[in-house]
Amino acid sequence: MKPAVKVTITGAAGHIGYALVFRIASGAMFGQEQPVILRLLEIPQSMSALSGVRMELEDCAFPLLHDIVTTDDAAIGFRDSDYAILVGAKPRSKGMERKDLITENAKIFSHQGRAINDHASRDVRVVVVGNPANTNALIAAANAPDLDRSQFTAMTRLDHNRALGQLANKTNTLVADISRMTIWGNHSLTQYPHIDHCLVDGKPALDLVTQDWAVDHFIPRIQRRGAEIIEARGLSSAASAADAVVDHVHDWALGTPEDDWVSMSVHSDGSYGIDEGVVFSYPVTCKAGKYEIVQGLDLDEFSVSRLKASEDELLGERAIIQELLP
Ligand code: NDP
Repeated sequence: MKPAVKVTITGAAGHIGYALVFRIASGAMFGQEQPVILRLLEIPQSMSALSGVRMELEDCAFPLLHDIVTTDDAAIGFRDSDYAILVGAKPRSKGMERKDLITENAKIFSHQGRAINDHASRDVRVVVVGNPANTNALIAAANAPDLDRSQFTAMTRLDHNRALGQLANKTNTLVADISRMTIWGNHSLTQYPHIDHCLVDGKPALDLVTQDWAVDHFIPRIQRRGAEIIEARGLSSAASAADAVVDHVHDWALGTPEDDWVSMSVHSDGSYGIDEGVVFSYPVTCKAGKYEIVQGLDLDEFSVSRLKASEDELLGERAIIQELLP
């Protein structure tokens, strides 16, 4: 049997963590031939809840789960980690300003970036889920000088999957028939879900739906889907967020299908005119654990303005945490 992959999950006792750890242990992330070791990191006040998660993991008797480590010490949590999934983050509390939320989280993610730098595998791959995810990924990478910044990403896969679901509903097709969906920008209300390059059953999506539907219904629905779910459930999305983490890491590790791509927030290399100082969602292909930004896509004036709006928001977030960047 292959050696076990070590996966660290922060905030592992939270809603998303609870929906995530069992799927990783069951083989959904790396396949049925790949054993895993889970290293679950929490804050001290959540260690009791985490011990309950551990008991349930043991009770599932997953054949692929070779060990479980639970800890509130980042040095232990990230030790030799091959994949670090950063879910835990400070939620917005009543009366808290957006600026304070960004700064509070920047402190947490600076600390975790340093711990990953000092303790994780040199090939570690990091995905940030805790919000503001893109800026948290930026600050974590900035605090890991011994690692390559391409090892740090943020998750826009849930937005991508939501977009696939909505387009499949509208065109009365299956999600599996749709390819080349893209989410550009920040994981926030300024994200730009974009179907101009999408194919449905090999045909352009724009032959099946109108631009008006895309602009007036599809884009705002994807941007506000999280709020729609909170309104319906009374709780934020957790199962679909966990599922998107599984997809993000699965495709990064094992590759994207031929002739298709996925959306991942990665450090900008200047592609499509985006400032190199931000973590931006792009269409990417993955192979053998590396991603490449898809190049050469045509963008009309409306699309360029949407990318710019999201870039401006990310530059604003970056300005707030500038003094915490080393
Ligand atoms: P969740 O598990 O529901 O969410 C965790 C983070 O994921 C939040 O920042 C949340 O952002 C974000 N997120 C990203 N995408 C989504 C999405 N589509 N739907 C919902 N959330 C999304 O939070 P819980 O409060 O249940 O659990 C957090 C855990 O983290 C707790 O167990 C806590 O102990 C731990 N924690 C760790 C900290 C640390 O590491 N220092 C600090 C604080 C908490 P948003 O809030 O914007 O929805």
